[in-house]
Amino acid sequence: MNFATELLHNGLLPDKATGATTLPIYQTAAFSQASAEDLEKIFIGRKADFAYTRISNPTTATFERRISNLERGAGAVAFSSGMAAISAAIMNIVEVGDEIISSAGLFGGTNDLFRELKNFGIKVNYVTENRVENFASLLTDKTKLLYVETIGNPKLDVPDITKLAALAHENKLPLIVDSTVTTPYLVRPLNLGADVVIHSTSKMINGGGNSIGGIVVVGKKFRWDTKKFPKLAEFKQFGTMSYLVRLRARMLTDFGGCPAPFNIFLTQVGLDTLALRMERACGNALELATFFAENKKVSVNYPGLENNFYHELANVQFNAHFGTMLTLRLGTKEKAFEFLNSLRFALKESNIGDVRTLAIHPASTIYLNATEGEKLNAGVSEDLIRVSVGIEDISDLLSDFEQALQKI
Ligand SMILES: *Cc1c(COP(=O)(O)O)cnc(C)c1O
Repeated sequence: MNFATELLHNGLLPDKATGATTLPIYQTAAFSQASAEDLEKIFIGRKADFAYTRISNPTTATFERRISNLERGAGAVAFSSGMAAISAAIMNIVEVGDEIISSAGLFGGTNDLFRELKNFGIKVNYVTENRVENFASLLTDKTKLLYVETIGNPKLDVPDITKLAALAHENKLPLIVDSTVTTPYLVRPLNLGADVVIHSTSKMINGGGNSIGGIVVVGKKFRWDTKKFPKLAEFKQFGTMSYLVRLRARMLTDFGGCPAPFNIFLTQVGLDTLALRMERACGNALELATFFAENKKVSVNYPGLENNFYHELANVQFNAHFGTMLTLRLGTKEKAFEFLNSLRFALKESNIGDVRTLAIHPASTIYLNATEGEKLNAGVSEDLIRVSVGIEDISDLLSDFEQALQKI
């Protein structure tokens, strides 16, 4: 089965109760059971059924199964936001005194979270040049995981997932990958060796920009050593599934960041057209980047351009697609603002992965809390504009960006 067919037919079962082909919204807080014994069985995990929406819900469970199938995972847990998913994926295994090694070209919210982790006694060591040997040089006996984004937002750097996974596994560490920007349409990180994949489903997976959400997909293979990860000892009997079981039991149920079934419904409507939207938006992004590359007023960063440092790796790793995001440098903050204000179609907003083209000045918005050093490492300069390319007609996008360039 090819991607678009699988997307529509693998995991989305007609509703058992009614045969409805659109996933029903189980808009309920709790589920009554026939007997006290049944409820007891659900709580101790002997019966797979529903008790309370903070733990699981049929609408959400269908979505989790669909994304997990697409990613070739053992299972998935959905959260109320991408940030809730990232914090849960990490806090599920790290403790006071532990260290994380992460690429530096991170989404602003993740960068803020990683700074906050210091208050929990967890140290993040950053790799500024996204190469495997730089991760290796930061390993210590306190390191508990390696963390990367498939395409750094907005640095647009690309890690070699296969090589990084090999390094992680040589050191008995998991590789956690934020694949929000690529989606399973471009890459299945678990197939390349990653152990945990995270998506902010607010972005391309939803596509319409109508809900916030996140999901953590867990792979099948990593052997969680309970000496190295003592928090998993409680779930030792689940073996390679211990991380997944703990994620739902402790991170979702106890911390409580569950998604609303209505938001999941909206996200799944979007998910149905993921393949079409990604194909179109990646194509638009490449055409726009090629146009900018020929204009002297602006310098463009996009892994799809042949002279880009990450081009070859991205070409192989992402199946000849390069994402829907590009960045531009206009020379000064003033020019960047003038350019933004001249755009007719691109909405000025702090989001990516919408069907509409969006543009933003990251330094004055998403990276407001970042230090100068963090901004430098994330590739956020004062003259930088990030563009998330939508699915509009390319001729309209080209003429809009051309007229905006003429204004500066
Ligand atoms: C938006 C985003 C997040 C955070 O997701 P929210 O749903 O906004 O909480 C995490 N990682 C990346 C790469 C993102 O673009």
